[in-house]
Amino acid sequence: MGDFYETFCGAAERTARLLEIALTSREDSTGEYPMAGIPIDNAESYIEELLEAGYRVAVADQVEEPGETSGVVERAVTRVITPGTLTEDELLAGDDNNFVAAIARDDERLGLALLDVSTGDFYATSATAAESVADEVSRFDPSEAVVGPDASADPVPDDCMVTPFDARAFDRERAGETLAAYFRNPDALLAGDAEIRACGALLAYAEYVRGGEHEGERGDTDEERVTAVLEGDADQHLEYITQLTRYDPREYLLLDAVALRSLELFEPRTVHGRDDATLVGVLDETASALGGRTLRDWLRRPLLDPVRIEARHDAVAELKSAVQRREQLHDRLREVYDLERLIGRISRERANARDLCSLRETLAVVPEIRDLLADADCERLRDLHEALDPLVDVRELIADAIVDEPPIEITEGGIIATGYDDDLDDLRGTARDGKQWIDDLEERERERTGIDSLKVGHNSVHGYYIEVTNPNLESVPDNYQRRQTLKNSERFVTPELKDREDEIVGAQQRADEREYELFCEIRREVAAEVERVQRLADAIATLDALVSLATVAAQYDYCRPEILEHDGRDGLVIDIDGGRHPVVERTQESFVPNDAHLTSDRRLAVITGPNMSGKSTYMRQVAQIVLLAQVGSFVPARAARLTPVERVFTRVGASDDIAGGRSTFMVEMDELATILREADERSLVLLDEVGRGTSTADGMAIAQAITEHLYDEVGATTLFATHHHPLTELTADLAAAFTLHFEVDQDDGEVVFHHEIAPGAATGSYGVEVATAAGVPDPVVDRSRELVADAAEADRETDATSAVDSSGEPGSEPTESATGDTTADGGDVPTDVAAELRALDLGHLTPVEALTELDRLKRLLEE
Ligand code: ADP
Repeated sequence: MGDFYETFCGAAERTARLLEIALTSREDSTGEYPMAGIPIDNAESYIEELLEAGYRVAVADQVEEPGETSGVVERAVTRVITPGTLTEDELLAGDDNNFVAAIARDDERLGLALLDVSTGDFYATSATAAESVADEVSRFDPSEAVVGPDASADPVPDDCMVTPFDARAFDRERAGETLAAYFRNPDALLAGDAEIRACGALLAYAEYVRGGEHEGERGDTDEERVTAVLEGDADQHLEYITQLTRYDPREYLLLDAVALRSLELFEPRTVHGRDDATLVGVLDETASALGGRTLRDWLRRPLLDPVRIEARHDAVAELKSAVQRREQLHDRLREVYDLERLIGRISRERANARDLCSLRETLAVVPEIRDLLADADCERLRDLHEALDPLVDVRELIADAIVDEPPIEITEGGIIATGYDDDLDDLRGTARDGKQWIDDLEERERERTGIDSLKVGHNSVHGYYIEVTNPNLESVPDNYQRRQTLKNSERFVTPELKDREDEIVGAQQRADEREYELFCEIRREVAAEVERVQRLADAIATLDALVSLATVAAQYDYCRPEILEHDGRDGLVIDIDGGRHPVVERTQESFVPNDAHLTSDRRLAVITGPNMSGKSTYMRQVAQIVLLAQVGSFVPARAARLTPVERVFTRVGASDDIAGGRSTFMVEMDELATILREADERSLVLLDEVGRGTSTADGMAIAQAITEHLYDEVGATTLFATHHHPLTELTADLAAAFTLHFEVDQDDGEVVFHHEIAPGAATGSYGVEVATAAGVPDPVVDRSRELVADAAEADRETDATSAVDSSGEPGSEPTESATGDTTADGGDVPTDVAAELRALDLGHLTPVEALTELDRLKRLLEE
């Protein structure tokens, strides 16, 4: 209404509170109800707030001119704005995709479709297990998931909005039809009904939310919009969705949600972490939004195929050594606009003339970029050289048709260049001549009337006028008609001036209309080239990502990893000399490089060392180096030889977690269960202080059992960090297991960390020393020392006793019976006594109570 979008009733109350706008009321025959108005001028920022608060927004506009009807002006829902389907640049991060997902189920599979409505990036996959779909969802991190009646929202993380959508959209046949409007043979493109239903439903949803200038004429309610889309009545086709990438998760290195987080791919591990303290942060030197998104996609889906990996390495190597060319490329790429979103807007008929100019400017730098690749050696760069089509026809069309600096508005003229259209030039000529006539009028009338102070002016109410001051009024000629009386003057018009004015206004109006018509025509012509523009965008994006990797490699002294082919079903080879943690090394003044040598003969490393000595940094750096190599990047190391890893699992001790809801121990066990179920001999597993959420004995037992299982049954390459010393003994019985440790020195009671890894187990845990270094008060530290000494003494005594025991009875090693309970003389312990002994809570017995208990148990035995 007027300058406001109005919300009513419950929506009014909520928006008023949330957006801090005034809550008023409205009255009609049904009574009084709440109302709140959102200023149209500022609507986008209010809409943004609503989205952030987890709402979807439907915008209803007037779809008739108020003058055209009597009674209430017709309104219709013209736009639906949801977090996953944003296209407004202001609401989107440039260098990241914004995906909406759809999930559908058939008998055995769960299908997943992912679409970025702003760019047209479209993916599909499926899996039998909900967990695998959940892993894919966490890779793409959609902000919204559309679900049908039969697919639960299970695989969707909490921060993703779940939108139930019309069941009809998920219908197999209808989904097939929706898809067929976009792709030639969807059945061949996709694998199975679940994928088809997910993709079809997602396209229907994208059509439903689509905003366009040609729609909203049906007086639609939200529901009618859905139906119109599903019945194929609405012209909502999204021309720029031209490609659907169907992939199998097994073609890429799989990182489960936990690994994504703990390896800091996209988000810092700690709440207070700096934003650039992520893998993407250290790797992203891209110049354009296009390249930024591609780099993120590569990180999301690291490759497995050595040929594809090496193709990227070849390109990075070439760009790394060609310093000058690389820098020139980077500079040119900075001038590239977000072609994908531009062509998306053009295709949705949402683009203005400035968007077309941005396209023109981008196309103008393409030949320069292309030239810089003219002597490229490696195949990847040569292919890109080929693919960089400067779209000369499109550029010339825009250059010929659109002025250099057009206004934002597309209906008010000033857009189309002179010489492009004869009709337009004529209209403009008429307007110009008329204006010239008026410009000359003042001079002419002064001469004719002899009034030197006569003026010709213009205002918005009366249009053009001739102004004469009061003393000269008697010299006014007959054909002057009085229009307005001011204090010191009168304003007049003449019939001729009026005619001229009408002519100017008419010509201008028709010129504006003609310009808008021409603009829409040109925009449609450009939109018809959507596939070529997208291919060009792909090539630029890839090049930018490669240049970025090369820049990082050069700047931070990364080396090219050697990629080894897998040899049969043997395990992994991870051979790193002088490896560094790519993220930590950036935040640290100096970083100590460390080696890692893992093969199928050395596939379980138990790493010990005090807290803060560098265990978890070491483990994560191994995984990150592997990951970077498979992304196509060089790696922070002196040298690296690697077989592609198929899956990376990480489990970091519960104490570091801020998981809500379930107990952290439950979360940990749950994640471990997943690892045990899903890992195999081409998996890299990082276990950092597992089993901390329960008693020490329990925790150590669980940690040991898990490690043994991973070793024996799974065959995964495992790095296992613990500060529980006894766990290093576990390696003694396992041929392919070994120990590593971090050395620390004590200097005058203070611990000195060297962060240098060495073979063997650590000698102590240095907990007390770390406490000192951390500033725990002296008396507490001293008391801790005493207790540690006592415990060590107690250990020695037990060791001594057992030594005496076994030597006291040579040849009769204590054997364990099937039940495991034996007395010193070999007789069975009655089960009730054993049970009571086990149940004794030694920690809470006083010495006297303990003696009494012992006495009682002894009597029981004697009975
Ligand atoms: P742990 O897992 O043994 O408790 P971390 O791996 O968390 O120890 O390391 C503690 C800190 O030590 C890190 O935050 C980092 O600042 C520093 N550090 C770790 N490894 C190195 C290294 N190789 N070179 C320099 N500093 C390191």
